[in-house]
Amino acid sequence: ENGSSRNVLKPMDSEQLREYGHRMVDFIADYYKTIENFPVLSQVQPGYLHNLLPDSAPDHPETLEQVLDDVKAKILPGVTHWQSPSFFAYYPSNSSVAGFLGEMLSAGLGIVGFSWITSPAATELEMIVLDWLAKLLNLPEQFLSKGNGGGVIQGSASEALLVVLIAARDKFLRRFGKNSVEKLVVYSSDQTHSSLQKACQISGIHPENCRVLKTFSSTNYALPPELLQETISRDLEAGLIPFFLCANVGTTSSTAVDPLAALGKIAKRNEMWFHIDAAYAGSACICPEYRQYIDGVESADSFNMNAHKWFLTNFDCSLLWVKDKYALTEALSTNPEYLKNKASQANLVVDYKDWQIPLGRRFRSLKLWMVLRLYGSETLKSYIRNHIKLAKDFERLVSQDPNFEIVTPRIFSLVCFRIVPSKNDEKKCNNQNRNLLDAVNSSGKLFITHTALSGKIVLRCAIGAPLTEEKHVKEAWKVIQEEASYLLRKEKT
Ligand code: PLP
Repeated sequence: ENGSSRNVLKPMDSEQLREYGHRMVDFIADYYKTIENFPVLSQVQPGYLHNLLPDSAPDHPETLEQVLDDVKAKILPGVTHWQSPSFFAYYPSNSSVAGFLGEMLSAGLGIVGFSWITSPAATELEMIVLDWLAKLLNLPEQFLSKGNGGGVIQGSASEALLVVLIAARDKFLRRFGKNSVEKLVVYSSDQTHSSLQKACQISGIHPENCRVLKTFSSTNYALPPELLQETISRDLEAGLIPFFLCANVGTTSSTAVDPLAALGKIAKRNEMWFHIDAAYAGSACICPEYRQYIDGVESADSFNMNAHKWFLTNFDCSLLWVKDKYALTEALSTNPEYLKNKASQANLVVDYKDWQIPLGRRFRSLKLWMVLRLYGSETLKSYIRNHIKLAKDFERLVSQDPNFEIVTPRIFSLVCFRIVPSKNDEKKCNNQNRNLLDAVNSSGKLFITHTALSGKIVLRCAIGAPLTEEKHVKEAWKVIQEEASYLLRKEKT
């Protein structure tokens, strides 16, 4: 065989896909079977991979075996195992067999579904599945696709926030004139995710017009409505234009829930756009007993939750609903000749390219559809409830140990805790908690992360990985306790 015939590429050979695909699925299934053998947090040093891989790409094909050997020997050591049952860091990012199969099918079809015409099923399935989920969450009718509203899958909560901020900005600029951008003011609490700051930076909101309102432990870090109203009144007096309020259901640091109904009234009175970020906790609201946490969503203009965080849908899948889809399309639509088609020109269809930043989009609704069909909503509710139960168990274990305290009341499946300060020495206490975090994570047995609340370093145990069971939570607590006693003993000697 000479070199040139060896290099004739058959990029999508069905039989090779069948053979390699089976082997890859076996490889991944074996990974899941042995996932507990890996250190949860990768322990490699920065730049580790540079010395392990060649300086340039191969000229000729290598075998799948060779690649998989490298994955085992060189890539997996640099992987942090997000799907490990002992992953309690950040918020989880869920995978599942259904989500995985949906992702695979999406890769298999390989479509780019920016306009309805580019794959009608992609747009229509997305509309249907988002309506299904809106009904499970009992969202107001105006968020359903039959009227002026509807849902769309974004890549991330950050993108969702950016597109609604831009939609709101342009709505206000149409009303007040395009030179009034310097007067537009955004409101949120100091617990709001940093994606709001980024969205403001991108969309040209003046940094001095971003009101980050202080929250307190006495109100569990929820945004005080009185403070919001006072700040808005002051801004109005100064001739500014309050235009966007971002409220939280389940903040990143501590799952704080803002008082949506009271905030919604203020937003309405001042004719502002009201966005709700429920990136993590939104999933829990499909359970009737947790639905109360989004009471007040009726007054929102947009609502967002990440199905990839706690809804068994492989990353990425961020769900955004809006009441006024035209606000999005007026801000984001373009109509170049090369994309014109009869269905779009006749306004018969939704073209999701006009609801998002990029043009191209994947067939992401397949995985959410598969999750909903292969599990069903009752199973999904049990899945959520089980995590919340495990978090309650962990909370009980922490509160029984006099060396530790619970820092904020647990609402969903995140427990915020720390080593208690001795003799009110907060500085020393912060260092102890930082040291404990490092010790626990370098054990490789579990992975937790931290935050700061009112200057206190707080450890976060976020329960929500799909494989987590009671034994993993107990084991995690044992490791934390052991490392803490070791640290505290060492300090005494
Ligand atoms: N909002 C909240 C409450 C979050 O917890 C997070 C991430 O953890 C985000 C937004 C940002 O999410 P994404 O990575 O989807 O942009």
